[in-house]
Amino acid sequence: MAEKKTTGRRAGMDRRDFLKTAGLAGAGAVAGMGGIVGSAAPAAAAVAGPLGRAADLPPRKGQRVVVVGGGWSGLTLAKYLKKANADFDVVLVEPNAMFMSCPLSNLWLGGVIGIDILLHSYVEAARNNGYVWLQAMLVQLDREKRRAWTTAGYIDYDYIVLAPGIDYDYPSLGVKDPAEAAIVAQAYPAAFKPGSEHLSLKEKLDNFEEGTFVLNVPPGNYRCLPGPYERACMIASYFKKEGIKGKVLLLDPNEEPTIKAEGFLKAFEELYKDVLEYHTATTITGVDVGKNQVITEFGEIEFADASLYPRVRAARLIEDLGLNDPKSRQYEAKIDPFFYNVPGDLHTYVTGDSRSQPFSKSGNTANTEAKVVAKIIAARAAGKEPKWESPNTICYSMVNTDPNESIMVDAKYTFTKDKGWDFTDVKLITERSRQLGKANIEWGKGLYRDMFM
Ligand SMILES: Cc1cc2nc3c(=O)[nH]c(=O)nc-3n(C[C@H](O)[C@H](O)[C@H](O)COP(=O)(O)OP(=O)(O)OC[C@H]3O[C@@H](n4cnc5c(N)ncnc54)[C@H](O)[C@@H]3O)c2cc1C
Repeated sequence: MAEKKTTGRRAGMDRRDFLKTAGLAGAGAVAGMGGIVGSAAPAAAAVAGPLGRAADLPPRKGQRVVVVGGGWSGLTLAKYLKKANADFDVVLVEPNAMFMSCPLSNLWLGGVIGIDILLHSYVEAARNNGYVWLQAMLVQLDREKRRAWTTAGYIDYDYIVLAPGIDYDYPSLGVKDPAEAAIVAQAYPAAFKPGSEHLSLKEKLDNFEEGTFVLNVPPGNYRCLPGPYERACMIASYFKKEGIKGKVLLLDPNEEPTIKAEGFLKAFEELYKDVLEYHTATTITGVDVGKNQVITEFGEIEFADASLYPRVRAARLIEDLGLNDPKSRQYEAKIDPFFYNVPGDLHTYVTGDSRSQPFSKSGNTANTEAKVVAKIIAARAAGKEPKWESPNTICYSMVNTDPNESIMVDAKYTFTKDKGWDFTDVKLITERSRQLGKANIEWGKGLYRDMFM
C-alpha cells in the first residue's frame, strides 16, 4: 500500500496548539524546545525542560513502536508487538503508577472479590514481556518528524499507537459549564475510569446508611454496555447483605437494558424487588449538587448519594491532537476502520475505546483488537500487506452474589457495504448460573495473565 506523506495542521506542529496542549499558552516564549519555539523566558524554562530533552530510555534497538496508554488495549499491544516482531523496540507510555482494572470492579463493589485481584504492576508487565514502561503522559505529537512529546521528555519513533481510553462528556448531563462539571465529577464520580473514582464510589457505599442511591445509564455507545446494570445489581446485593435501609435507583434513557436485557430484568424482579428501582425512558437533564438532586423530564429526584455516568467521548487527547472524526458525536478518532491507522499516515494508529468503529467499548474487545493491530503493524514494518480480523466481545455480568451467578454474551463483528458494521456469531446466555459466575472471575484472571505475564 502506497504511503502518503501527511501535511497540514494535523500532521505538523502548530505553535499555538503545541502551547495549548502542553498547558503553556500565555507563558510567553519558551526556552529549550528543540528549536520549535522561540527564545528564552526564564519563568517558563523549568516547564520546558522535559519537553526539550529526550526521554531517558535504553538505547534504541530496531524499529521503535510507542504505545500511548497502559490500559487493556495498550498493555496487550505492547506485549503482542514484541511477539509479532521480537526486534521491535517497544515503549509503553502510561502516567499511572499502577494498573487498576475496570472489569471485575463491580464484583469488588459487591464484595465478591478483593481489590488485590484488580491491581497489577506495570514494572512486571514490561519486564515479563521485554518492553520498556515510561511513566509519563503524552502531551503532543509531531507526526511528520515522528516525535512524541511526553511529560518525561520526547521520544522519536517509527510507529505510534494511541490507546488513551475515554473521557466524560458532562454537557450530556445538562452540566454545560466546565467549572460546574468539575464539581459534579467530584461530588458524584462516574467510576467508569479506573482508580480514584472507583475508590471513592466504594467509600460512598461503605459509609452509606439510608436513602436513595442514584445510578444512571448514559446515552450513545458508552464504556461497558452492561456495566451500569451489573453495578446496580452488585450495589443492591450489598445493601441487602449489609441490611442497609437503602434503595438503588437506576435511571435509563432506553426502554430496556441495552444488552442482556432478559437476564438483567429477571435479576431486578426476582432478586432485588425491594432494593432496586429501574426507571426506563428517563434522561438526566441537569444536576444540582447543592440540593443532591438530578433533574429529569419527569421532575426532580432527590437522593442521599449518587454516581453519575455522563456520555463518554474518546479521550480528550484525540481531539487535542486534531485526530477526532468531525462526524463523531463522541469525538472518536478518524481511522481506517479495518487497519486502525490515521488516514494517509501508516505510522499512527488509534485503538481501544477511542476508536471510531461502533464496537462494544469493552476490555475483551480492546484485548483481541490489540492483537490484530500488533500483527498489522508488524506486517507493514516488514513490507507486507496486513489482514483484517474481527475483535471478539466476550462479556460476563455478575447479577447475584448469593450464590455468585452471571450471565454472558460472546460476539464478533462483520462489515457489509449495505449495513455497515453488525454483530455476528452471537452467543447470548441470559439464564444466570453459578457456572457462569465462576467463568466470569476466571475470564478476568485469564486476561490479567495475558496482559501482565
Ligand atoms: C465498571 C466497569 C466494568 C467493566 N466490565 C467489563 C467487563 O466485564 N468486560 C469487558 O470486556 N470490559 C469491561 N469494561 C470495559 C473496559 O474496562 C474498557 O473497555 C477498557 O478498559 C478499554 O481499554 P482502553 O485501553 O481503550 O482504555 P483504558 O483501559 O481506560 O486505558 C487507557 C489508558 O490510557 C492512559 N492515558 C490516557 N491519556 C494518556 C496520555 N495522554 N498519555 C499516556 N497515557 C494516557 C490512561 O491512564 C489509561 O491507563 C468495564 C469497564 C468499567 C468501568
